[in-house]
Amino acid sequence: MDIAFITTLILAVPVALLANMVAERATLVAEYHGRMVTKDDGTLSAFLVDPEHSGAGWAQPNPYGEFTLRVKHSEVGFPLTAQRRLLPIRADINVFVHPNRTTAHAMAEGEPERVAIADYLVQRGDAQLLQAWEGGSQERQRTWLAVVMNILLWWVALYVAASVVIGAARIVWAFMIRRKRVRDTKYKQMGRCVSCGYDLRGLEFTARCPECGALV
Ligand SMILES: [Zn+2]
Repeated sequence: MDIAFITTLILAVPVALLANMVAERATLVAEYHGRMVTKDDGTLSAFLVDPEHSGAGWAQPNPYGEFTLRVKHSEVGFPLTAQRRLLPIRADINVFVHPNRTTAHAMAEGEPERVAIADYLVQRGDAQLLQAWEGGSQERQRTWLAVVMNILLWWVALYVAASVVIGAARIVWAFMIRRKRVRDTKYKQMGRCVSCGYDLRGLEFTARCPECGALV
């Protein structure tokens, strides 16, 4: 059995697991745009708007601000995603402090903007969006097929790499052997020591080279 075949298979498991730990990335799953208005009682009311209508004018009175919710997954595993988890939403809000002037900030716990958005999401009944808003999920969803596929893909990649390195080493080795043979033949024909190139012509027959001691 090919040694590279077995070695790379054994290596593929820790390499795939290591890739799982280091290759963590956040991917955008969905993006929502919303608006907030000030109600008559002074509290805020939040609602989402369709992307097609986000550029349209405000039909509602007392505009307070606009916000964007970005739902992201934390994904690990390379080349395939083997685990994913819902990340907490970081909402960006533009509050219309003054006409033609906006401020952007992320909402903190208990802020009226946060409460207004939470109320809206509860009404809306979007479980994933609400969970992301409430702080994401610590629970990782694993895809075992991807875990196994990653190990196989790493194995193939490592095996190909090892084969290329071993193949190149064999070519270099064969070239060096060949070059040594050519040189040995040349030295022999010239009457020189094959080992050090010392000129043996005119010397009496000796078993060893007087210069380096190699067998002649
Ligand atoms: Zn010699």
